[in-house]
Amino acid sequence: MENKVIQIAIDGPSGAGKSTLAKYLAGKLGILYLDTGAMYRSFAYHAEQNGVSGSDDAAIVKLFDSFHLDFDKSKVLLNGKDITAQIRTPHMDKKVSEYAVNPLIRKHLVEMQRNIGSKQSIVMEGRDIGSVVLKDAPYKFYIDANLDERAKRRYLQNLEKNPDADYEYIKNDIIRRDKVDSQRTDSPLCVPLGAHVIDTSNISVDEVAEIIIGLIKSEE
Ligand code: C5P
Repeated sequence: MENKVIQIAIDGPSGAGKSTLAKYLAGKLGILYLDTGAMYRSFAYHAEQNGVSGSDDAAIVKLFDSFHLDFDKSKVLLNGKDITAQIRTPHMDKKVSEYAVNPLIRKHLVEMQRNIGSKQSIVMEGRDIGSVVLKDAPYKFYIDANLDERAKRRYLQNLEKNPDADYEYIKNDIIRRDKVDSQRTDSPLCVPLGAHVIDTSNISVDEVAEIIIGLIKSEE
C-alpha cells in the first residue's frame, strides 16, 4: 500500500467520530490527514476578525489574498499564528455555518483541498468530500452515530477544556448544525454515491478503523 497514492474520503455529521477516526486511519496508513472543517472554521475566524460577514461577497473575495493556512501536526496556523484554540470555541461552532453556506468560500476552500489531495495519499474529512471535493476517490465512507451518542462525545470533548460545558446546549447546537449542513443548496451533507455507511454508535474508533482498512484491502 505504501507506494500507491490513495484517497480516502470521510464524511458525516458533527460528533460522529470522523476526526478521531480519520486521524487514526491516516496514522495507521502513514499518510496525510486533512480536517476540512478546520479550514471552514479558520476562514470564518479570519472573516470575523476582519469584520466581514458571511454574506458580504465583495469583502470575502478580498480576504482570500490574506488567508494563508498551514497545518503543523495538530496545530492550525493562520498567517503563521496558532489559532487552534480560537476556532474550536462554542462561538465558532455557531458562526462557522454562516460562512460555510457561501458558495464563493466553498469554491475557494475546495480548490485548496483538491490541490493538497491531488499530490499525495490522504485521508480527507468533512461534509462534502466524497460528493464534491474528491468525487472520484476510490474509498468513500460516511460515518454516522445516533444523536445522543454524538452529543455525549462532543460534551466529553468540551468538558476537557471547559468544566461548565452544557450537554443540552451542545446537543441543540448539533441539531442546528445538522440541519444547516444538510439543507444548504451548495454541497449539502449527504451520503456520497458509492460510500460505505458505518454507524459508530456502538463501536470504538479502533474497530471502525480496522473495518475500513479491511474494506480498502479487499477492494485493492
Ligand atoms: O467538522 P467541523 O465540525 O469542524 O466542521 C465545522 C463546520 O464547517 C460544519 O458544521 C460545516 O458547516 C462546515 N464544513 C463544511 N464542509 C466541510 C467541512 C466542514 O461545510 N467539508
